[in-house]
Amino acid sequence: MEFIDALTIALSKGRIFEQTLPLLAHAGIEPRDDPAATRKLILATNLPRVKLVIIRAADVPTYVQYGAADLGVAGKDVLMEHGGAGLYEPLDLRIARCRMMVAGVPAADLGPDRLRIATKYVASTERHFAAKGQQVEIIKLYGSMELAPLVGLSDLIVDLVESGNTLEANGLVPLEPIADISARLVVNKAAWKMKHAAIMALLGVLREAVEAPVGADQ
Ligand code: ATP
Ligand code: MG
Repeated sequence: MEFIDALTIALSKGRIFEQTLPLLAHAGIEPRDDPAATRKLILATNLPRVKLVIIRAADVPTYVQYGAADLGVAGKDVLMEHGGAGLYEPLDLRIARCRMMVAGVPAADLGPDRLRIATKYVASTERHFAAKGQQVEIIKLYGSMELAPLVGLSDLIVDLVESGNTLEANGLVPLEPIADISARLVVNKAAWKMKHAAIMALLGVLREAVEAPVGADQ
């Protein structure tokens, strides 16, 4: 597929890159390098006008918001924290799926006391408990949230849960769902107007790839 405008697409390494790759392939876009095997942060593709920028998952909305990338792929968790300013979110890619959950020790008290909650997802946690009319103290962490209740840093955690194995390995259980999470295509609002035809063309083939029956190839 040919694109009339140059397009820069922001992706993060790991599961987002790996699971977006087949969708991009459906659009005829193939990176020249594997981010797991190169230190390059800008990857050329087989299409001279399309390039990928490889950044931290939590930074994808920011690059797209400021137009440093025209579009990107970001987890709903990351978008809920970012707030979505300057972005359109036209397509659920249905990849990198998991749930944002409140978790803790089995039968932990979720009651009205001022609970301490450790999480990387401060905004989502605040919103969740505010909606229940519950006062909580949020302790911001950057990873390994499961440790916090084990060492008395917090009563509960808010984290992403896929199989529950990491929780279980640490004697924790999911207690309350907050949101279903999957990766979304995000588009810079100015690019949406200025590069409308190219973005619509890419969006169309990505939507087709997402909706294709599981196992079907092209
Ligand atoms: P880093 O690992 O670089 O600190 P990160 O944890 O945000 O950053 P990834 O682990 O690659 O980066 O996660 C990227 C996205 O994938 C998350 O924003 C989330 O939407 C989704 N994700 C994270 N963990 C899981 C999981 N266990 N199962 C499915 N999807 C997940
Ligand atoms: Mg991670």
